[in-house]
Amino acid sequence: MTDKILEVRGLFKTYGGEKKRGLKGLTPKLDVLKGIDIDIYRGDVVCLIGPSGCGKSTFLRCLNRLEVPTGGTIKFEGEVVDEAHIDKLRQKMGMVFQHFNLFPHMTVKENLCMAPVLLGLKSRPEAEKRADELLERVGLSDKANVYPASLSGGQQQRIAIARALAMDPDVILFDEPTSALDPEMVGEVLELMRELAHTGITMLVVTHEMGFAREVSNRVIFIDEGQIQEDEPPQELFAHPKNPRLQAFLSKML
Ligand code: ADP
Ligand code: MG
Repeated sequence: MTDKILEVRGLFKTYGGEKKRGLKGLTPKLDVLKGIDIDIYRGDVVCLIGPSGCGKSTFLRCLNRLEVPTGGTIKFEGEVVDEAHIDKLRQKMGMVFQHFNLFPHMTVKENLCMAPVLLGLKSRPEAEKRADELLERVGLSDKANVYPASLSGGQQQRIAIARALAMDPDVILFDEPTSALDPEMVGEVLELMRELAHTGITMLVVTHEMGFAREVSNRVIFIDEGQIQEDEPPQELFAHPKNPRLQAFLSKML
C-alpha cells in the first residue's frame, strides 16, 4: 500500500481581478499556478526549487489554506482541504517561514505551548513537558524563558521549527527557512532540518540550498511558468536536468 499524504489535482491560483476601494475597475489579474498535479507520500522530503516569483510560496500557502486556491482540489490525509477541515489541517500541517514569525511578546516556551493549549490538544503541563523536550532537541533549553528578540536569527528559526513540532504535525512546510539568515547561521538550521528528515516526518521545503536538496531530499521539484516542470530524485535532477529552463536555473545557482 502506498501511503499518500497529499494529493493535488489541477491546482490553480490567480491573484487579482478584485474590486478595491479607491480603484476604478478591477485589480490586474496574475495567473500564478496553472494546473499543479502532485502526490506526496508519507516520509517524502521534497525540495521545491524555481525562479523567484514562480509561485513556490503560493503553492505552500495553498496547501495549508493561507491562500484559497482559484481551482483544483487538494486532499490531505484523504480529506478534501476546505474551510470545513481547516482546523485539523493546520494542526497536522506545520509551517516554518522565512522570517520566523515568532510571537514577540511571548517567551520562547510560551511560543511553543500556546497553540497546543489554546486548541485543547494538550493540557498545560503536557504542553510544557513537550516544550522542554523540543527545546532540548533543538539545543536551546537555556533559552526557555527569554523573548525571541534576544535570540540570533538562527536560534529564532530553530525555535520556529520547535514550535511547528509542538503540534505533532504529520507534514511540515518550510518556506525558504534559511534565506533571511546571516551566512554563519544557515548551517545550524539546515543541520536541524537534516535531523528532522531522518525521523521520517514528511517535509516540503522551498529552498535555494542546493546542497541540502541534493543530500537530504528524495525528490526535487522544479516549478516554472505555473507548473511542475520536473519531479525527480536529486541525483537525477541535478545530473541530468531535462528542461532547458531548469538547466538555465541551475547554471545560475552554481
Ligand atoms: P515565489 O515564492 O516563488 O518567489 P510567490 O508565490 O511569492 O513566488 O509569488 C508568485 C507571484 O505572485 C509573484 O509575481 C508575486 O508578486 C505574486 N503574488 C504573491 N502574493 C500575492 C498577493 N497576495 N497578491 C497579488 N500578487 C501576489
Ligand atoms: Mg517565496
